[in-house]
Amino acid sequence: MKYIFVTGGVVSSLGKGLSAAALGALLELRGLKVRIQKFDPYLNVDPGTMSPYQHGEVYVLDDGAETDLDLGHYERFTSGALSRANSVSSGQIYETVIAKERRGDYLGKTVQVIPHVTDEIKERILRGGEGVDVLITEVGGTTGDIEGLPFLEALRQFQLDAGRENVCFIHCALIPFIRAAGELKTKPAQQSTAKLREIGIQPDILVCRAERPITREMREKMSLYCNVPVNAVIECRDVEHSIYELPLTLAKEHFDEVVINRLGLEAKPRDLSVWENIIRRIMHPAHRVEIGVVGKYIELQDAYKSIYESIVHGGIANDCRVDIRRIDSENLENGDLSPLEGLDGILVPGGFGDRGIEGKILAARYARERKIPYFGICLGMQIAVIEYARHVLGLEDANSTEFRPDTKNPVVDIMESQKSVVSKGATMRLGAYACALREGTLAREAYGTDIIRERHRHRYEFNNKYLNALEEAGMRVAGVNPDSHLVEIVEVKNHPWMLGAQFHPEFKSKPSAPHPLFAAFIKAAVEKKG
Ligand code: GLN
Repeated sequence: MKYIFVTGGVVSSLGKGLSAAALGALLELRGLKVRIQKFDPYLNVDPGTMSPYQHGEVYVLDDGAETDLDLGHYERFTSGALSRANSVSSGQIYETVIAKERRGDYLGKTVQVIPHVTDEIKERILRGGEGVDVLITEVGGTTGDIEGLPFLEALRQFQLDAGRENVCFIHCALIPFIRAAGELKTKPAQQSTAKLREIGIQPDILVCRAERPITREMREKMSLYCNVPVNAVIECRDVEHSIYELPLTLAKEHFDEVVINRLGLEAKPRDLSVWENIIRRIMHPAHRVEIGVVGKYIELQDAYKSIYESIVHGGIANDCRVDIRRIDSENLENGDLSPLEGLDGILVPGGFGDRGIEGKILAARYARERKIPYFGICLGMQIAVIEYARHVLGLEDANSTEFRPDTKNPVVDIMESQKSVVSKGATMRLGAYACALREGTLAREAYGTDIIRERHRHRYEFNNKYLNALEEAGMRVAGVNPDSHLVEIVEVKNHPWMLGAQFHPEFKSKPSAPHPLFAAFIKAAVEKKG
């Protein structure tokens, strides 16, 4: 068993999660069993209660873990199935240590960062990697942060326990371009490497994020000052068209080879054609459509990360370039729907709280009446139901009790079992649930199978009291949970493609395996455009 640790230096947002994910992809192509996990130094127990403004999207796993969006990159680039064990925060570590202290497990000892917190971290490394050849652990934050120190100290200890030959440290650093000097500067990378060495960690590989090519001379300089072999200085330039170029650009730098040699791994030669084909489809598509994403956190880069990625995957499946128009639903509420004009498809993503709801309902109505393909995800499905109940069934005050607790027509409502919940952490319907698809529906056609499993993260549900009335009015239930009979998918008859899913399909789409619903949605958009 081999362990790779990825740290970051100089600044955050270096894309070290993507580098870790792309490395995972390359190692898998060499026949290795890989898993990638994330250590986050913040004190929140999980990102589930964190605002999208602070943290971007919450990515949900099959087991219901609410995790950092980097786990989305890991799952999109590799085949490894991730679990709760692969998303670890300082908050979780301290929660466990304090619970053990309260139980008396430490037998009266003084409980300290070293060894108790670091032992718990090392335990999580072992647990995260069960059953694989290579475990890649990305450490969040930037080297030198106070919060990250216990993690780095634990890694230092871990290399002693596991053996230096079984551990590879990769440090990602920024090589900034200084315009006035007209050159790239290696000093920040040198200094953050020095910071790591102070803690007792000597990186084996430097991944250098730079806007411009790194010269041979600079590689030699970094090799000398940072004490890594010159071939282990890896250039990671900003990708031009798509993040899915990353496995290819890093392969050119022999990133995976350096790792394999460093760890003495037995690996077969790799075939990059999967990634080459993905890039070919992105660069030279036969079709082009424009999809509107109507949401609340539209100005944020990361709040709908997996949605945007899955739309791209749907494009790959259809040999189609997809331009995304980001529309703030609140801007539709004055009744001016011109921001929706010319779209080939409309997607309403998940969300919480009542801000912008009426704008989303207007967008759903627009899509339904003008027969524009509509894909509603989680909240977007509930929106489609409310819209249909109001404007087709004639229940003018139809609403979700999330937005109007006193509505006379709660077509979307909270389940009895959820009503008593007061705590906000991890209390929703979370993780993978089965859904049985009905014959003759868009969903059944897209999936090509009868039973699916998809990931959930919500409190409210389609209210089955309205099922018959809605079906008679032309809405169709396409998928239900076989145990609870909760409605998971609705469709609108007499419409080319209008579908709402209570679950989050965007958490199960990969560029190499586009999600069936995203593929079908983009296909409908291509057909609409004609
Ligand atoms: N707010 C809705 C609910 O809790 C939808 C949640 C979501 O879109 N993820 O049911």
